[in-house]
Formats: sequence, structure tokens, C-alpha cells
Amino acid sequence: MIRITDIIDKVSANHPGCDLDIIERAYIYSARVHEGQVRLSGEPYLSHPLEVAGILADMKLDWISVSAGLLHDVIEDTRSTPQEVRDLFGDDIFNIVSGVTKISVLPLKSSKERQAESIRKMILAMAKDIRVILIKLADRLHNMRTLQYHKEKKQLEIAQETLDIYAPIASRLGIFWIKTELENTSFMFLMPHEYRNIQNLVSKDRKEREEYIETVKGFLREQLAKNKLNGEVLGRYKNYYSIYQKMQTQGLAFEDIYDVIAFRIILDTIPQCYEALGIIHALWKPIAHKFKDYIGFPKPNLYQSLHTTVIGPKGERVEIQIRTHEMDKIAKSGIAAHWGYKEGKQIDERMSQRFAWIQNLVENQENFSNPTEFMESVRIDLFPDEVYVLTPRGDVKTLPKGATPVDFAYMIHTEVGNQCVGAKVNGRMVPLQYELRTGDVVSIITNKNHQPSKDWLNFVKTVKARSKIRQWIKTQEKDKSIGLGREMCEKAFQKNRLNFTSLLRTEEMAKVAEHFGFKTTEDLIASVGYGKITPLQVLSKFLQKPESNSAEKSLLNKIIGRVRKKKPHAGVIVKGIDDVLLRFGKCCQPVPGDSIVGYITRGYGITVHRTNCVNALKMNPDRQIEVDWSPELTETYPTKIRVRSYDRVGLLADIADSIAKNGANILSASTETAESKEVNSFFTIAVENTDHLRRVLSTIKKVKLVQEAERLS
Ligand code: MN
Repeated sequence: MIRITDIIDKVSANHPGCDLDIIERAYIYSARVHEGQVRLSGEPYLSHPLEVAGILADMKLDWISVSAGLLHDVIEDTRSTPQEVRDLFGDDIFNIVSGVTKISVLPLKSSKERQAESIRKMILAMAKDIRVILIKLADRLHNMRTLQYHKEKKQLEIAQETLDIYAPIASRLGIFWIKTELENTSFMFLMPHEYRNIQNLVSKDRKEREEYIETVKGFLREQLAKNKLNGEVLGRYKNYYSIYQKMQTQGLAFEDIYDVIAFRIILDTIPQCYEALGIIHALWKPIAHKFKDYIGFPKPNLYQSLHTTVIGPKGERVEIQIRTHEMDKIAKSGIAAHWGYKEGKQIDERMSQRFAWIQNLVENQENFSNPTEFMESVRIDLFPDEVYVLTPRGDVKTLPKGATPVDFAYMIHTEVGNQCVGAKVNGRMVPLQYELRTGDVVSIITNKNHQPSKDWLNFVKTVKARSKIRQWIKTQEKDKSIGLGREMCEKAFQKNRLNFTSLLRTEEMAKVAEHFGFKTTEDLIASVGYGKITPLQVLSKFLQKPESNSAEKSLLNKIIGRVRKKKPHAGVIVKGIDDVLLRFGKCCQPVPGDSIVGYITRGYGITVHRTNCVNALKMNPDRQIEVDWSPELTETYPTKIRVRSYDRVGLLADIADSIAKNGANILSASTETAESKEVNSFFTIAVENTDHLRRVLSTIKKVKLVQEAERLS
């Protein structure tokens, strides 16, 4: 087991003058809270955070990362609380540790392979500080090194996840040695047979191969020296997993893979690299299309090298990489290599370009003065417009930023969306307009009888949710109109001793529908509900004498006239429907400005009430329909008022006068005199809207001896 003193020595060598005290405190604290816990290997649990911190120290990371490495499991696995970690070690370390914890608790175990890319994006997006990812990689590396202590099922799960998620992340960050080790170890557990097979093939003829390596290396050194180039020459076997992949993807037998061995030349400067390339190409014939200039065109993960494959001394293919010492360091450690730079060193133009891929993703990246400051400001905000959330089963869903549980529900299934009544995020109930965040585990609560709400349109972000909600509303309004239209027709037909329901399926009815320009009788009935045609128009097609029709019509008109119902809409809009038959509730007599609601009334179309009307509140909510005042109003509306006053001569005339002065008409009036000489006068007056009514009432209140003037509800 690595000792804390070794770790501290490494960090202080790489970062002279850093805060070593905090590492020591992190160690003591970690030892205390993990005390008594044991790894599957039988070692004390503390060995794990120590090894992780050791890996981080080897990567030359700063003391904050190393301390966070020592503490990386305390929130998840011990009685330690987030608050305690924050209080003891400050915001930086706390944020990193809680970032690692958040990734660790993601329910990814059952995720399907095809989701790997989304999961990688989610993990990168969740880690706002790149050090979170570096610690997570070190953690996974040590867990893979001790994987043999797990049961086989667990081994396979963890190895697959490592291969799918963590090795590609290491590759993306350019930490090649971690990528290679993670791949090889995963490969060994996932495909032990294939792994051993390649192991055997590589060790077969080993002596012969090693002699070959030495020959080629010696020859290359000689050639470089002849041209006064002082370079390091290395020859190594490619890792087993990449040999396996090559055999699989190119369908080759092991014997046919020539570049099982890769040679590398490391020099001091870039011009030397191109010079060495020229020497090799002059010496051995290069293979066309195999030359790659990653110095001129670095890979996104900062990797730089010249790659070439040539026909070697024995007529075989030889793969050679050429790069500088600096590039070699980056090739091995990628982004982590930059942590080693001493403070105060300016980042030059070239360095800035290398970081371009990260730079584009980071805010305020232009003005950093040194590498440390730059690295600290690196926030991995790779995908600012997306959030990644999980189903309870661990499937990742990608949603636009700002998306809500309703969007999530519709993404799962239209029915789930339509029946969504509530949502839990990370086990807690949240409002439906909650803004989802990356890493949230979302479960939707549904109810078969529940229906979407129009209000959802105010906060949903996805096109799918929006269009599904709109579609549902449309269908629902049509359903309501059909119900309403059917009731109106039944009633009208009944009066003429005709059975509408039995006529519905007749040829005659189909013809009537066609006559009015509808494809189906359902559309015909719906349009009666909408108020586009009247039930009497339909009825007339079934009646013998047209004159009885007109007699009926005039009677109806009289009735409608009594309730001041000249036009069908009378200044009220039913949302989503044109030309509906409407009337106003006599009970509450709404006037423009009142908050109103519509009710589908059997046989009469829609009755409009004030929202606070006692009768309206008693009605079945299923029959409720949204209505609003039209913006263009020209009519006047009846409303009842009461005026309380003391009796005197000329009182009524004065009140009537003040009503008339405000341009309102009196439709009816009555008075009651009480014993105490108090008089209650009741008027029904026609006003334009609530403002108009208020003006009338306030004028009445100024009449001599009037105590009170109010609207009756
Ligand atoms: Mn761990």
C-alpha cells in the first residue's frame, strides 16, 4: 500500500511551496471516517483513496486534486456529510468531491450499450471542473486493478462500463496511458479467451521478435547519429486490445498484422522531427496513404506526432511515430500534462492553439495569465444547450436546456405525457414546470383519467410535447362539440316527435351532412355544437312542411330576444371554436370585464357565467369550457344593481337621471320600502363593461341620501 508520505513527497516535488498541510488533513480525516471499512481484497478501505491519490500525484496534479482524491468516497460511503467536508476543506475540494459523488451514484448499471455516447456526454457535462473527471478516471483505474476480488457478474458489468464509458473519456482527454490500461484490463475480464490467445501469439517467437526490435532500433539510432540528430528510439508491442481490434475490424489473422510492434523516435525540436522523417523515407520506402502529420494538424485531444509506415529491412511493414519530448508527455497524459507547468509561465500562441478545442467551450478564456489559472477556469461546458437526464432504469434521455418533467414524459410516450399528473426528481416530488438538470433521475406519475392542461403550453420546451398537447386540446374540443351538438339535435328532434339517434345512421342523415358540406355525420353534429349551423337547420331537412319550420324559428328568435341574444357570440369567444351558440347566466349576468367561464348546457349551447357565480361552481367540471370576452365589443349587457337610501321626494328620478347621464339604459326597476324609512331600489341596467358599471354606481352614490349602490351577484 502506498504511503501518504510518498504522495506528499511527489506533490511537493511537482508543486514547490504548495499547501501540503491540507493533504495531510484530508488523509487524517479520510482515515478516520473510513475506519473499520474493508475492501473486498481484505485490505483496509483507506488503501483505495490512498492509491487514487497516488495515481493523481503521479499525474502531477495539484494538491487540491490529490486532497479531493483522498476524500473522493467519504460523502457516498461514510457518515461524513457534505456540509462537514465543505467546512473542513473549503469550496474547491468540496465541489470536486461532490462532483465525483454525483457521477458515482448515477444509476447506469443497466444502461444499454447504444447509450454510451449520451452517458459520456452526460458525465462530462456534469463535471463542471475537469479535475472531477481526472479523479473519476483514477478511481476507475484502481478499481479495475482490483477487479479480481469481485464476483464474475460484477466483473463483467464493471469491465463493460469501463470499456464503453471511461476508456473513451480518457482517450478524449488524451490521457493515453489510462485509456490503454483501462482497455486492456476490461478486455482481459470481458474476453479472457481472446485475451490469452493474443498474449500467447505475442510471446511466441518472442526471442526472435526481440532481436528484431533491437536490430531496427540500432539501425535507426545509427542513421540519426549520422545526421547529427540526438534522439531517443523506442520499440514496443502494441497493447493487446488494439491488436484485437485491428484483427476484428480488418478481418486479419495475427500473422498478417505487421504493426504489432511500434517504433517511436523522440527528439528535441519540431524541425528535427521532420528531418528524421526525411531520413527514414530516404532509407525505407514509405507506404502510400499511411503518412499522417499530426504535428501540423493536432488531434482534438492535443495529440501530436508524425506517423509513417515503411517497408523495413526484411521487407516487412514498420510503423514509426516521431515526436518531441513535450509531445510525448502530452501523448501520454493529455490534458493532465499541463498541470505540471510551473506557475507564472506565460502560455504562448502555440499553446493557446493546442487548447483551442477546450477554449471554444469555455467562457472568458481569453485573459488567463498562466496555465494553472487557465486550468482552474476550465469548465467543461461541452454541450450548453442540452441536459441529460435518466429514467429510473438508467436510460439516458437528451433534452433541450430548460426542459421540464412534462417534456420528459412526452419523450417517453405520448400516453405518459397525456396522463402525467406529477413527477419525482431524484426521489422527491417536484412541480411539473421544474427545470430538469443534467444527472437528474426522473420518474413520472401517471393517472389513466388525467388529461393534459393548456397551461403546460406555457412551459414545455420540446416540439413533441407542444404538438401533442395542442393535438389533444383540438381533439378534446371536437369531442365536446359533438356531445353538445348531439344534445341540441336530440332536443330539437324530440319536440317534433322524431328520434334523432335512430335517424343518425340513416342514408338521409348522411345526405344532410353532405348538403351542409361535411364528410361525415359526426362533423355535422360537431358543427352544430360549434354553432356554425343550428339544430333547426338540420331538423328542417326531416320535416314535411317548411312553414312549421319558420314558425318554430320565429318563436325561438323571440325567446332568444328576451335574453338579449341577437348574435350567436355576443362578444364572447369560446377558445378554439368559432360561432358558438351562447347565452348568459341569468343568475349572475356577466358583463365585459368580469372573469367568465362557459358551461355546456343541455339543449341550449353554452351558458356563460361569472367564475365566482354560485350556480357555476356547482356545475360538473367536465362540462366546463374556456371562454373569454371578445376584444371588439359593441353591445350592452344587462346587470342588476341595488341602491339603498333614505326615502325622499324625487329620489327615483335623481337616481334614474344619474344612470342616464352615464349613458346606461334602465331595463327594469322596482322598489321596496322598509319600516325604518329605508328604501331598497333594484334596477336592471344595460352597461358596456365593468368600468362602465363602476362609473354608474359611483355617480349614484353621490345622489343625496343614497347610502349604498352595489351590483347584485
Ligand atoms: Mn472510489
